[in-house]
Amino acid sequence: SPMKSREIHLNAYLKGAPKTENYSLVETELPAPAEGQVTVRNLYISVDPYMRGRMSGIKTYIDPFKLGAVMEGGAVGEVVESRFEGLKPGDHVMSMLGWREAYTASGKAVQKIDTRLLPPQAFLGIAGLTGLTAYVGIKRCLDLQPGETMWMSAGAGAVGSAGIQFAKAMGANVIATAGGAEKCEYVKSIGADHAIDYKATDDLTAAIRAVAPQGVETYFENVGGTHFTAALNTLKQYGRMAACGMIQRYNDAEPAMIPDNLTFIVGKSLRIQGFIVSDHLNIQPEFIKDLSTWMMAGKITPAETILEGIEKAPEAFTGLFSGLNKGKMLVKI
Ligand code: NDP
Repeated sequence: SPMKSREIHLNAYLKGAPKTENYSLVETELPAPAEGQVTVRNLYISVDPYMRGRMSGIKTYIDPFKLGAVMEGGAVGEVVESRFEGLKPGDHVMSMLGWREAYTASGKAVQKIDTRLLPPQAFLGIAGLTGLTAYVGIKRCLDLQPGETMWMSAGAGAVGSAGIQFAKAMGANVIATAGGAEKCEYVKSIGADHAIDYKATDDLTAAIRAVAPQGVETYFENVGGTHFTAALNTLKQYGRMAACGMIQRYNDAEPAMIPDNLTFIVGKSLRIQGFIVSDHLNIQPEFIKDLSTWMMAGKITPAETILEGIEKAPEAFTGLFSGLNKGKMLVKI
C-alpha cells in the first residue's frame, strides 16, 4: 500500500500572533519515486522565527509562503526508497521541504548529511544554519576579539546558546539575557559570565550596567525593542552591533515607536551591521573547522527542545514567541 504522509498547510496570511486556525493538517498519499526521485521519511523538522515573516504574505528578502501548500522549512530525514544516483535507503538527508512526515521529491532537492559524528538533528541546529548564524554575527559582523565583552540577547535560544559558546571559545566575556530564572541558570551552565532575566527587570539598561559598569564593546541583537534601546544605552564608544533578528516585533500588527536614543549611534560612532545568514554561506568551511575544533575540545554542548508529532509543529512555532524553548526548537516525527 502507498506510503502516507501528514503535512501542515498554511490557510491564510496572518496579522498579529499566529493561531491554530491558521493551519490545517492534511493527509496525502506519496507516489513511489520516479527516475531521479527519492522518498524520504522525516526524522525532525525545524521551526524558526523567520517563518513568521513568510506568513505575513509580504515579500521581504524571501517570498511569502504559498497558501494551501505545505509550510516550507528545514527538515532532516532518512531515505526509504531511491531512484537517484548517490542516495540509498538509510542515508540521512536534509531538505527545505518543510512540515511533513515524509515526501517523494527530486534527489536534487535534498542534501546528504554525514551523521557518523553528529546526530541528524544537529544539522538543523548548532551544525546547521542556526550555528552558522551565530558564527556569522560574531565573526563577520562583530569581529569579536578575546577579552572583549559581548551581550547576547535571547541567550537561551538556538542562535543565542550557540553564540554564547562560540564567544567563550574565542576568549570573550559574555553577558546573556533570557526570560526567567531557569533560562538564566542554563546560559550560565554553557559559559555565560553573567545572566540577566529581562522579565524580572523594568530597567534593562541598569541591569546591564550593573554587570558591565564601563559598558559593552559588542551586542548580538536577536530581540529588538526594549533590548535595542538598552543596547544603544550601554554600548561603549565605537561599539559594534550585529543585527540578527528582532523577534519582539514579529507579531506586532502595527509598527511601534522608534526609541528616542538613536542619537547614540552618532555620538558613540556605533557600527550596526545587519545580516542574513544565506548571504554568508562562503564562511561555511571556516565555521566547520572552528566548530569541529571546539567540539573536540569539549567546549560545545548542544541543546534542543523537542515536541513530538507533526501535528505539534504549529505549537512549537508559536512557542518561539512565548519562550517555550531552550536551545533549538524541533519537532520529532
Ligand atoms: P530562538 O531559539 O532564539 O527562539 C526565540 C527566543 O526568543 C525565545 O525562546 C524567547 O526566549 C525569545 N523571545 C521571544 N519573544 C521575545 C520577546 N518579546 N522579548 C524577548 N525575547 C523574546 O530562535 P532562533 O535562535 O532561531 O532565532 C533567534 C533570532 O535570530 C531571531 O530574532 C531570528 O529571527 C534571528 N535569526 C536570524 C537569522 C539571520 O539570517 N539574520 C537566521 C536565524 C535566526 P526568552 O524565553 O528568553 O524570551
